[in-house]
Amino acid sequence: MLVELDAPLAPLTTLRLGGPARRLVTAATDEEVIATVRAADLAAEPLLVIGGGSNLVIGDQGFDGTVLRIATTGFALDGVDLELAAGEVWSDAVARAVDAGLAGIEFLAGIPGSAGATPVQNVGAYGQEVASGITEVVAYDRRADEVVTLTNAECGFSYRHSRFKADPERYVVLRVRFRLEDADGQSTPVRYAEVARTLGVEAGERVALRTAYKTVLGLRAGKGMVLDPADHDTWSAGSFFTNPVLTADQYADFLTRLGERTAPAYPAPDGCTKTSAAWLIDQAGFGKGYGTGAATLSTKHTLALTNRGTASTADLLGLAREIRDGVRTAFGVDLVNEPVMIGVAL
Ligand SMILES: Cc1cc2nc3c(=O)[nH]c(=O)nc-3n(C[C@H](O)[C@H](O)[C@H](O)COP(=O)(O)OP(=O)(O)OC[C@H]3O[C@@H](n4cnc5c(N)ncnc54)[C@H](O)[C@@H]3O)c2cc1C
Repeated sequence: MLVELDAPLAPLTTLRLGGPARRLVTAATDEEVIATVRAADLAAEPLLVIGGGSNLVIGDQGFDGTVLRIATTGFALDGVDLELAAGEVWSDAVARAVDAGLAGIEFLAGIPGSAGATPVQNVGAYGQEVASGITEVVAYDRRADEVVTLTNAECGFSYRHSRFKADPERYVVLRVRFRLEDADGQSTPVRYAEVARTLGVEAGERVALRTAYKTVLGLRAGKGMVLDPADHDTWSAGSFFTNPVLTADQYADFLTRLGERTAPAYPAPDGCTKTSAAWLIDQAGFGKGYGTGAATLSTKHTLALTNRGTASTADLLGLAREIRDGVRTAFGVDLVNEPVMIGVAL
């Protein structure tokens, strides 16, 4: 277990932003993770758990407490059942599952961060979510002071949300279990229109697993959504805003503001409609590359707020507020941030 004092956090985030941690603990085993959390809780010490730092906006003042960096390893495949230690690098795990000829997480290729964080916001992309493959999550329950195994249903998954996100002070994910699919080298059915178009197939068809994997990586790279230290468009937290889910009344009001335009609209549970945050941002006047300061929109994707190299968290939040307010004025829709804010708010 590595313990560092007054440790910079910016290098541990994909935005490269945020002040130092009073104490940074890097834990390589479940026992070290649990011992660190237990000790912090007993001392009533503020605790922040991090994996790959790819969904975090940390304030410039840093974190006055213990930051626990989960660096556990473990990739165990038994037939179609895969168990990942929380610290495993997610994109490597996806590549290994594809190499093993197993479908179920191939459309989640190239997403940065750790396996243990994937259930937290029910990571999803290109028509797939981890919720559809997860069977169980093993977690340390800080309230009960014991290790618990939660079934998929008990994880409370919904769009970019889960029980872990709803109750962030309670669970530390230790292991994530998936049931994958042996589809004779084929992918799960293609669900996302852009992927189907790129592959020249109809939605619902299967394609070669490796083709699906490579296609997604190509699409993501074109949007600056695969990490590349040399490319400031990837110094981001991915999508900064979630796609708004509007109630029937909110959607009716939204339609009155569109004029001649047609906004993307997808059915969502409970009679709601999901629209596209990227479309709203663009149509509100914030095109790709918007901004002149050290924090700007990505030149490849309107949904990624990026650090051009010298930004502070205050710069990034200034841009985020400008965009949120502009979208509200233009469309009456409140954008909600997807990354977790530490010591700051939008
Ligand atoms: C370029 C880029 C592209 C992205 N694309 C996507 C995408 O397509 N789809 C998508 O859903 N997300 C995407 N993201 C967001 C991000 O990659 C995911 O949310 C990822 O799962 C975060 O993992 P992490 O290990 O980096 O978590 P961190 O950023 O370290 O932490 C995020 C949150 O999870 C908590 N957490 C982390 N590990 C644990 C644990 N073991 N137990 C309990 N809580 C934990 C933290 O406390 C924090 O609240 C993208 C990000 C970037 C930078």
